Amino acid sequence: MSHSDIDELIRIFSRLPGLGVRSARRLVLQLIRAREQLMQPLHLALGNALTNIKTCGTCGNLDTQSPCAICADERRDNSVICVVEDLADLWAIERCNLFRGKYHVLGGTLSALDDRSPAQLNIEPLIVRANAAEVSEIILATNATLEGQTTAHYLTNRLADAGVKISRLAQGIPMGGELDYLDDGTLGAALKARLPF
Ligand SMILES: [Zn+2]
Repeated sequence: MSHSDIDELIRIFSRLPGLGVRSARRLVLQLIRAREQLMQPLHLALGNALTNIKTCGTCGNLDTQSPCAICADERRDNSVICVVEDLADLWAIERCNLFRGKYHVLGGTLSALDDRSPAQLNIEPLIVRANAAEVSEIILATNATLEGQTTAHYLTNRLADAGVKISRLAQGIPMGGELDYLDDGTLGAALKARLPF
């Protein structure tokens, strides 16, 4: 391992959330010291994940199978679809252990500022799913940010003819709040007490 290989590792790790150059350096140092116990399994796990992770063709979730494990789970309720911005929000709701329906992952929010249009999000497949006979409710669980709410309003209009009940998470999600940062109890309560949009 040349010095530049090590620098490259530090550079990559320092781009991960929560890590600055200092923490990245410590992390890499630890990996180098424990090559067999840490670096080798990490190499293997990253390689496997890189090869196997795919986007679910139904809901947009990321998993090692498509349809993803949630879409493929026949014990889950097909009549309710919870719409989230991204994977972190799906994971947050799954951690509450309350929701037994299916998901739809948008892959972001609409944003005039960042020039993100409906065509760039996973919206058309949602409209198709919402029109399926078995679907009776769509929960719009976008974040309580300006972009999240704008996206929810846009979806409400697009879903108006689908003949489904449209609901949103109850109050209690602080404005500007992102689902991933809420404690499971707060998010669970907001999901249980959801309101018509
Ligand atoms: Zn899926």
